[in-house]
Amino acid sequence: MSLAFEAVVLPPAAHEMRKRVRSFLREQLAAGAFVPRCSGWTIFDREFSRSCGQAGFIGLTWPCEWGGQARSTLERYVVVEELLAAGAPVGAHWIADRQSGPQILRHGSDALKAAVLPGIVRGELFCAIGMSEPDSGSDLASVRSRGERVDNGWRINGRKIWTSSGHLADVMIGLFRTDPADPKRRHAGLTQFAIDLHSPGVTRRAIRNISGREDFSEITFDDVFVPDTHVLGQVGDGWKLVTGELAYERSGPERFLSVFPLLVECLRARPKADSPLVQAELGRSVAHLAALRRMAISIAAKLDAGGDPATEAALMKDLGNALEREIPERLRSLALTDPASAQTAPYRALLAHTIVDATSYTLRGGTPEVLRGMIARGLGLR
Ligand SMILES: Cc1cc2nc3c(=O)[nH]c(=O)nc-3n(C[C@H](O)[C@H](O)[C@H](O)COP(=O)(O)OP(=O)(O)OC[C@H]3O[C@@H](n4cnc5c(N)ncnc54)[C@H](O)[C@@H]3O)c2cc1C
Repeated sequence: MSLAFEAVVLPPAAHEMRKRVRSFLREQLAAGAFVPRCSGWTIFDREFSRSCGQAGFIGLTWPCEWGGQARSTLERYVVVEELLAAGAPVGAHWIADRQSGPQILRHGSDALKAAVLPGIVRGELFCAIGMSEPDSGSDLASVRSRGERVDNGWRINGRKIWTSSGHLADVMIGLFRTDPADPKRRHAGLTQFAIDLHSPGVTRRAIRNISGREDFSEITFDDVFVPDTHVLGQVGDGWKLVTGELAYERSGPERFLSVFPLLVECLRARPKADSPLVQAELGRSVAHLAALRRMAISIAAKLDAGGDPATEAALMKDLGNALEREIPERLRSLALTDPASAQTAPYRALLAHTIVDATSYTLRGGTPEVLRGMIARGLGLR
């Protein structure tokens, strides 16, 4: 297999969409609805998500029947790119729009679609990813949380951890063992469920991260009932489903645009005459971002054409995350060594926050070692 990154020209509808999002963002900024931040896609803000829903920026590609607008993946690409570049707080609806909604559309029952999708599109119903467990991160097939058959549904027991916004979300799509583990067929006997996080038996505990924010959580399930209508796909097919979901999780521009607002603030706060060193550093970062953007757009086009860009997405996430970790470090060293670099208080505060936050960029959504293993497998090298 070879990797295919085709040069893609955005269609006129995508340019129209970009104008709409920019005008929305200008209005929101003027109204004081948000202050630009790095990793805006992890910042949970119910009000802002509701505004995005009202403006028609959630569930864009979904069928009209479920509240969507049946638009192209490239139009959606432009929307998420603009929201990220502006540092808008889109974390509440991000997971639902990016992967849970599409997963339910592909594999859910009509009852589940009706219960969940319209609320997501309105920016009022939020989702969480239930993959990692205390002893299962990279090795996802080792999950031990389990589902047992009962009348009309399933009884769920176990524990998920590092669940982004899990303490605030409404529905989790989680991976559970529904057959005893078989060391010879590690990927068999797993099933995905859509679990109502307000159900009896669900206990949620927010976890504070290194920057002091409570972005993720630990969720315990004690005899939680899940109806048959909330099983995704076929019982036992969970591995196939979860790997498909991960391709959506890894393929978006949030994997290289998290620190874009920091670059913008750096340019805004810079002295009138940049030193050659500053110019070279900023130019290098912007050139890298431009190359990654071309890759991201070609991945969106491949998704639009019904292709499976899992290997391309893993490559883009790995390269994007490496750059996202590098940029704040480069800017930090400029701030320390070059007086002709940006030095204002708001810029330095954003830089300090981003340096701490960036430690998580290469963990969330899969580590570099795991991604590189996937890329090697995708290329037939292992
Ligand atoms: C901010 C943040 C948000 C997150 N949100 C979610 C979420 O919403 N839902 C969710 O389910 N999870 C979430 N996670 C968890 C994340 O997916 C895991 O942290 C990640 O998959 C790594 O798993 P682990 O932490 O158990 O580390 P481990 O799997 O224990 O890995 C530890 C180290 O060993 C390396 N390693 C592991 N296996 C191999 C191998 N086979 N070959 C080479 N090296 C290897 C890893 O690369 C890593 O460096 C989140 C994590 C973070 C930091």
